[in-house]
Amino acid sequence: MLAPLLLAAARSARMRGLVTSVPLTRGVVDRFVAGEDLGAAILAIQELNGDGLKVTLDHLGEDTTDRAQADATRDAYLELFKALAAEGMTADADASLKLSALGQALPGDGEAIALENARTVAAAADGLGMTITLDMEDHTTVDSTLGILRELRADFPGTGVAIQAMLHRTEGDLEELTGPGSRVRLVKGAYAEPESVAHQSKKDVDRAYVRALKTLMEGQGHPMVGSHDPRIIEIALDLAHRNGREPGSYEFQMLYGIRAGEQRRLAEAGEEMRVYVPYGSDWYGYFMRRLAERPANLAFFLRSFVSR
Ligand code: FAD
Repeated sequence: MLAPLLLAAARSARMRGLVTSVPLTRGVVDRFVAGEDLGAAILAIQELNGDGLKVTLDHLGEDTTDRAQADATRDAYLELFKALAAEGMTADADASLKLSALGQALPGDGEAIALENARTVAAAADGLGMTITLDMEDHTTVDSTLGILRELRADFPGTGVAIQAMLHRTEGDLEELTGPGSRVRLVKGAYAEPESVAHQSKKDVDRAYVRALKTLMEGQGHPMVGSHDPRIIEIALDLAHRNGREPGSYEFQMLYGIRAGEQRRLAEAGEEMRVYVPYGSDWYGYFMRRLAERPANLAFFLRSFVSR
């Protein structure tokens, strides 16, 4: 019941003002966000790398309505890459991009602006031996995001994309995404979507996830299992085994601060484990989606006010 309210709040300017103005919120945000600045992100990455975990880095931001802001997001990634290179931390690193932060939603030529910005980031990543992955946002953006993916893959074939199991269209979308080298991060889906486009119950979403995972594991690409769900992880290991896949021909991905012990356990067991590390000051939308995923997070958040 609460999840749809929290997801609606994630897009409300008034709620954003309210939640972000409370200093106490920060303590709770820190559980999910590596820090507000690059320095904090670098420290978090060093710690994760030290524990044998790979990373995909997200400079927080979304739904940009301003060209200058879109270009600033592009520049933030370029600055991040410079810092990683200076620290010798580019090996096996990936960057996650939200196209709406790079201009996709701008009126008129937003899609072209997002493509141009994403291309600049992809070229910089490629020059350092890194990859990028396009996050998937709400269902209205999927066609545009897959179009931009096609363009980017023509020059940077290692470009990955997140695909949401909850959407009815996903099985069809996967048909063109299982070729050699195709990097696909399969997730359940974090946005409030109508019944007309998405499965609504957890059971149906989980079933759709397993069907899509089977398709990816049987394909020739590089499946990225983006889930914290113990059952999904077990099924992924089983499917990998049945399809004769070795760790490294697929990988697990989890979010920073969620099931951190399990992240390390999988890495120690020889699995490839990549952590999605968000950093930056525009954490509101990301944080609200994490609250929506798990009611206990909301209780924890509210308790931090009461127990003050
Ligand atoms: P669930 O059934 O939701 O959770 C299983 C278990 O995981 C829970 O019981 C709990 O123990 C733990 N858990 C899950 N979420 C939380 C949480 N917030 N806090 C604490 N514990 C939790 N979604 C998109 O729509 N687009 C994207 O581009 C995208 N990228 C992602 C990238 C990565 C690497 C990951 C891991 C997720 C991404 N997501 C994205 C979010 C995803 O769609 C789900 O909303 C999220 O992963 C929760 O689903 P789950 O598979 O973990 O399963």
